[in-house]
Amino acid sequence: MFDIIGSGIAGLTCSHILSQSHIKHTILEKETTSPEEHYGIQITPNATNILAKIGLLDSILPSMHVINNIEIISFRNLKTLTKLPVNEFILNNNLSKYYTTSRKVLHDHLLNAVIRNGTNINDRKNISDIIDHGGHFDLRYNENNTKVSQGIIIASGSSKKPIFKNIHIKQTSTNFLTLRAVIEQKEFPFQVKNDSIYVFLSEDMHLVVYPFFEGKLNIVLITKKDNLHLDSASINNFKCTESTFHEFLNSTNWTIWNLNDYKTKLSLDKNRPIFVIGDAAHTIKPHLAQGASMAIEEAYFLAKTISNNSDPQIIHEVMGKRDARIRKIIRRSSLNRFIFHSKQPLSFFRDIYLRNKKPISHLNSLKWLYKYEV
Ligand SMILES: Cc1cc2nc3c(=O)[nH]c(=O)nc-3n(C[C@H](O)[C@H](O)[C@H](O)COP(=O)(O)OP(=O)(O)OC[C@H]3O[C@@H](n4cnc5c(N)ncnc54)[C@H](O)[C@@H]3O)c2cc1C
Repeated sequence: MFDIIGSGIAGLTCSHILSQSHIKHTILEKETTSPEEHYGIQITPNATNILAKIGLLDSILPSMHVINNIEIISFRNLKTLTKLPVNEFILNNNLSKYYTTSRKVLHDHLLNAVIRNGTNINDRKNISDIIDHGGHFDLRYNENNTKVSQGIIIASGSSKKPIFKNIHIKQTSTNFLTLRAVIEQKEFPFQVKNDSIYVFLSEDMHLVVYPFFEGKLNIVLITKKDNLHLDSASINNFKCTESTFHEFLNSTNWTIWNLNDYKTKLSLDKNRPIFVIGDAAHTIKPHLAQGASMAIEEAYFLAKTISNNSDPQIIHEVMGKRDARIRKIIRRSSLNRFIFHSKQPLSFFRDIYLRNKKPISHLNSLKWLYKYEV
């Protein structure tokens, strides 16, 4: 019997697969409802392959956009630097498709599947601490309450304060901000196609735009703190963007939050049935759009491994085989941030490189990520 802490993407995916294997479990969630706002999420072929395998892709398909191209554009003159042929890459490699959708839509589909499975979701259970007594665990929740648990799956997302002493989180930097907005297509000062993701590159700032829900566009801008006057929410480095964007950037009603860097280290006792998945297990920068996809991958691996083994040591060992892949994804997302945010003269060479390299070769260099056999 397992207790899953957190009913986010990782926790719900894990629960659904455990149910398919008739493994008993419950979910403990600190909130009551699913995420309220529709914000965009990219679901890449490595994750859509899993959603198909667990029988959930078909029902979500009507609410998703198929992505055929990723266009990288210079913010300085709005010229295309390169257009990555996602569809061609997918066909060449016989992969599942690349989609965008709303995070709430994905969450609601997962939640409905878990409810249909009859799994008990205990809302308003805010776990503050886990104590390992050797034979069992105590889960402390809502200040004074305790639940005894025989096995735990921590899927509680990213947090500055870990809920278990064997999860170590270190903040490594604080100098980036994320700005997000959802707008109508006509409000965006650039023509976008429904099957494409657009990445606008400037210096020390980049903007990602894609269609995701009810004809709307999801826009995410990541920039250094110095580039933004937070009191007036005006973007400071206009010199790096084409002039038609100035008014748009200043008049958009952004939701703004800090994008801090963290390092998460797990030192779990391999003899104990306690496992960590999703954002609770690692911090991946958003520059490779892999947070949710990794939550799905890990949930799948853990639940399948638990379905085939009851020995915690074997389960930890199998999960440990994913470490190299996670490290590579963390490195690659850091490299993307370095490239996306580079300044002159590096940004000049970056743009030349992007213009001259064969577009498909950018995607071929990510075959290890998207073509992941499960
Ligand atoms: C701006 C932005 C854009 C993104 N874009 C993408 C993208 O395009 N593609 C992509 O793959 N990923 C993207 N991500 C990342 C993605 O949203 C996350 O990586 C993903 O949601 C992680 O899933 P999770 O289940 O681990 O955590 P979460 O989805 O955060 O779920 C954690 C759950 O645990 C609950 N919880 C937390 N603490 C406790 C507690 N103490 N007790 C009980 N319950 C608790 C929470 O309420 C929540 O329900 C983006 C993230 C951001 C911020």
